[in-house]
Amino acid sequence: MADTMRAAVVYKREGRKRIEVRDVPIPQPGPGEVLVRVGRVGLCGSDVHGFFDPDGTSRAEGLIMGHEAGGHVAALGEGVTGPAVGAPVALDPQVACGTCPQCRSGLVSICDNKQVIGSSLRGFRHGALAEYIAVPARQVHPIPDTMSMADAASIEPLANAAHAVRRAALAGDETVAVIGAGAIGLCLVQLLRSRVTGLVIATDVSASHLRLASELGADVTVNALEEDVVQVLREKTGGQGVPVVFEAVGIDATYTQAIGAVRKRGTVIAFGAVQDTVTVPLLPILHKEISIVGSTGANEETAEAVALAATGAVDLRPLVTHIFPLDKAEEAFEAARGAAAIGAIKVQVEV
Ligand SMILES: [Zn+2]
Ligand SMILES: [Zn+2]
Repeated sequence: MADTMRAAVVYKREGRKRIEVRDVPIPQPGPGEVLVRVGRVGLCGSDVHGFFDPDGTSRAEGLIMGHEAGGHVAALGEGVTGPAVGAPVALDPQVACGTCPQCRSGLVSICDNKQVIGSSLRGFRHGALAEYIAVPARQVHPIPDTMSMADAASIEPLANAAHAVRRAALAGDETVAVIGAGAIGLCLVQLLRSRVTGLVIATDVSASHLRLASELGADVTVNALEEDVVQVLREKTGGQGVPVVFEAVGIDATYTQAIGAVRKRGTVIAFGAVQDTVTVPLLPILHKEISIVGSTGANEETAEAVALAATGAVDLRPLVTHIFPLDKAEEAFEAARGAAAIGAIKVQVEV
């Protein structure tokens, strides 16, 4: 094995962040770590916002980004017994400390010291936009040989969607709505279709995303550019409002729709996060006695996501619309930022 690899590294020039693909040393797996030869990497909204924010600290200068990844085990560090070298794996990018009160209760998604692979938000952990990545062994999950690297790189968003569904504590007979039919929203639609007997309603501003939502199981789709989302969702629920609404966009308008469309004593699952702060009407939250339930990352849903994708219960293939080679990583980020204009859902980088 050579000692250097190609890696997409963030640097700053004239006040803005750029990406340069450089030769850097291949990381050596330390004790308890696994070296992974990366195959595919998906770009996430958090990557796009962190990278294009010139002052944002989550994607700092010198960082190799990328946390949605699939690859093959290349080497095992001291004390690691598996998966075997050559085994295909998906990455769980949330590195939990294992010792804080949350971790001790099994709630790793809210670990007090959580770090994320490919993020410089708390600590500095290089990501998967490189030929190799060394990660703690518990961050790699074996996947079937038959699973594509494209699917492997979408396991993380699917696990996050599965966690959001778990946070909703569904009764099973209710109608649900998903605000935003992006990659996570389309995972949610598929998961919810098999979990509830009521309607699955999807909303978006893109006709092509809504067509895909229908194909993947949504009973009703609402184009927010053409129709009043709150009014349609009320009509579809006999004027009562939707029992559980998943917000998967993250801006003022869509959180406001979720709060407007949810029924009395209903639940809004807060997942979308484009802005650090959203402004929403307060009174409906009080007067309808609604619950707003946050969701971040995943707990034990990664293995569940692997099984769902492997059995075809969730089809991840239509989510990937654009693929760039590692050398064009910066173009991939431009495509992800302009996703709406080019009809992109998930942009991936082939390493
Ligand atoms: Zn992500
Ligand atoms: Zn912890």
